[in-house]
Amino acid sequence: MKKTKTFPEQKQNLPGNEYLMKPEPEIIKENYAGSGKLLGKVAFITGGDSGIGRSVAVHFAREGANIAIIYLKEDKDAQITKELIEKEGQQCLLISGDLKDEKFCKSAIKTCIKTFSKINIIVNNAAVQFPQNELEKITAVQLQKTFETNIYPYFYITKAALPFLNKGDSIINTSSVTAYRGSEHLLDYSSTKGAILSFTRSLSTMLAKKQIRVNGVAPGPIWTPLIVATFDKISDFGKDNPMGRPGQPSEVGPAYVFLASDDSSYITGQFIHINGGELIGS
Ligand code: NAD
Ligand code: MG
Repeated sequence: MKKTKTFPEQKQNLPGNEYLMKPEPEIIKENYAGSGKLLGKVAFITGGDSGIGRSVAVHFAREGANIAIIYLKEDKDAQITKELIEKEGQQCLLISGDLKDEKFCKSAIKTCIKTFSKINIIVNNAAVQFPQNELEKITAVQLQKTFETNIYPYFYITKAALPFLNKGDSIINTSSVTAYRGSEHLLDYSSTKGAILSFTRSLSTMLAKKQIRVNGVAPGPIWTPLIVATFDKISDFGKDNPMGRPGQPSEVGPAYVFLASDDSSYITGQFIHINGGELIGS
């Protein structure tokens, strides 16, 4: 096994920029071979400019999908992702804006439909976090921002997309290991991730009759811009799990391919745990 490397200390503000990270995260493993699992599909990915969302976007493109990416304002990261998708021979639509605004969510879905004429896969993935060690430090303003960013858009986007989704289409939501085991310094964030878990389960039963599947991924520590933009100390990041190291986005993207593709045709309401071996139930 490779020896665990220590990341150099670095600090950015939210939203972090992937192109400034040292080292830059691994997006897709060199030997990942696409096999047309998402041929002709259109995927709509929030937070697809960087981190886990970028990895999902590039994996989906390698499997034959066209991609719409929603991001806040990281134009350079988004442009890099677009180029990576085009290198895979697929098209990429970039839409920048604030998912906290339901009107924007509706217009983003509309723009995607106008461009690609359809949507088959929704990946709800954008999020923020503001670590605080004491409850007293979580202001009403922070609480509102965390919930309005991390869970409200899951409703807005899904609601706007639903009229365009059909049998065989799929929704994938990004939760977190913190939803399952809690996090003493991410009380509000982990609460939104718990909400995403319940949202996924409830929506999966609501949409099962339409044969639209709703699943999720619950990552552990993954090396992304969110981490360098929100944690003060990086060098110990992700070492506190059985594998003793953080994961790379390249180790997360393939799970989204599985949940988006026909390979998981009888799976709905479930989560895949990508966390270096932390056992936290289902
Ligand atoms: P990231 O910073 O690369 O991605 C988050 C994205 O959210 C940003 O690119 C940003 O453009 C977007 N975003 C934030 N606020 C927005 C807003 N108001 N409107 C539009 N877009 C907005 O970081 P990441 O770690 O890849 O995060 C992706 C998902 O993974 C998040 O849901 C996060 O909670 C989850 N997650 C990450 C980790 C980890 O260790 N990195 C662990 C568990 C879960
Ligand atoms: Mg980003």
